[in-house]
Amino acid sequence: MATTGAAAARKISAAPMRVAQIPKPGGDFQIVDREMPEPGPGQVRIRVQACGVCGSDVLTKEGKWPGIAYPRVPGHEVVGIIDQVGAGVSTWKNGQRVGVGWHGGQDNTCPSCRRGDFRNCTNLQIPGISYDGGYQQYMVAPIEALVAIPEGLTDAEAAPLLCAGITTYNALRHSGAMPGDVVAVLGVGGLGHLAIQFANKFGYKVVAVGRGSESAALAKKLGASAYIDNKATNPVEALQQLGGAQVILATAPSAKAMSQLFDGLGPSGKLMVIGVTFDPIEVAPVQLINGSRTIQGWAAGTPADSEDTLRFAELTGVRPMIETYPLEKAAEAYARMVSGKAEFRVVLTMPS
Ligand SMILES: [Zn+2]
Ligand SMILES: [Zn+2]
Repeated sequence: MATTGAAAARKISAAPMRVAQIPKPGGDFQIVDREMPEPGPGQVRIRVQACGVCGSDVLTKEGKWPGIAYPRVPGHEVVGIIDQVGAGVSTWKNGQRVGVGWHGGQDNTCPSCRRGDFRNCTNLQIPGISYDGGYQQYMVAPIEALVAIPEGLTDAEAAPLLCAGITTYNALRHSGAMPGDVVAVLGVGGLGHLAIQFANKFGYKVVAVGRGSESAALAKKLGASAYIDNKATNPVEALQQLGGAQVILATAPSAKAMSQLFDGLGPSGKLMVIGVTFDPIEVAPVQLINGSRTIQGWAAGTPADSEDTLRFAELTGVRPMIETYPLEKAAEAYARMVSGKAEFRVVLTMPS
C-alpha cells in the first residue's frame, strides 16, 4: 500500500502546471507547462488562486534587479491553498489558505535579523525575484514567508493587500500620526486608494492630493475629507490653511511632486516616502530645520505585519479596487498595470 501511495503521489506531483514566465531580461511573457515543484524542508507548496500584478514586477520583467536567474516567474502578491508541506513543517497544514507577499523569507543570521528586524534582512528573499513567484498554478515558498488569510477576504481582494496594502498600512501606523491629525496622501492610484482608506479608518483627517479634478469624487468616497488638485491649486498653501500636515504619505512615484509638497508639512511633520522612483527629492536643509521636519522611506513589512493588515482590512472594510485577468493573459494584465490606467490593482486568477 505504501508503495502504491508513494507512486500515486509521484504521479500527481509530476502533473504539469501552467506558468507565466519571463525568459530573459526584457523578454516577453511566455505561457508554458512545467512540472509541479516539490516543497523542500521548511517549505510548502501552494495551489495559487490569485496573484496581484505589481509595479515592482518590472524589476523581474526588465531585469532591473541584480542576480535574477531566468527564466523567472514573477509575482509577490500571492494567495492560495497549501497542498503539500515539506519535511519538518508542523505549524502550517494542507488545505490552509495562505498568502506570500514581498517579504519572501529571511536568513535569520544577518545583523538585522539578529536584532529581530527581519524586514531589513540583508539577504531578504523576494518571490518572483529570488525564486519563482505567483504567476503560476503552484509555487513553493519557505514558511517564514507565509501569511494566514482571514475568511472575510476573497483571494483576489487579499492579494494586493500583501504588497500595496501592507506598505500603506505599515507606513501609516509607523508614521507617528495620531487620530485627528492632518495626513495628506499624495497620489490617488494603486497605493493611494488604499492609503486613503487606511488613513480614514485610523481616524486621521485625510487630505488627498492628486493631479486633475477627476479623482476628487473617488478620493472623498474612499474617506478623504478634502481633495487638493495640485494642477489647479497651490497644494502647499492649501495644506498650510489646514494647519500643515503631520504626515505626507507620498504614494505617487514622483520626486518632483514630493519636493513641491514638502512645505505643506506642519511643525515636526514627516514626509513618508513609499512611491518608488530613482529621481532625487530636492529639499534644502533649511526646509528640514524650520519646524524640525523629517523625510523617511518605508518598505513593506514582515508576514506578521501582513496579517495585521489583513485583519484590519477585514475588520474595517478596507478593500482594494481590482481588475482581474486569467493567468493566460498575464502579458495583457502586466501591460494594463504598466499603462497606469488600471483602477487600481491588477490581479491574475488561476485556471482550476
Ligand atoms: Zn509589490
Ligand atoms: Zn537577515
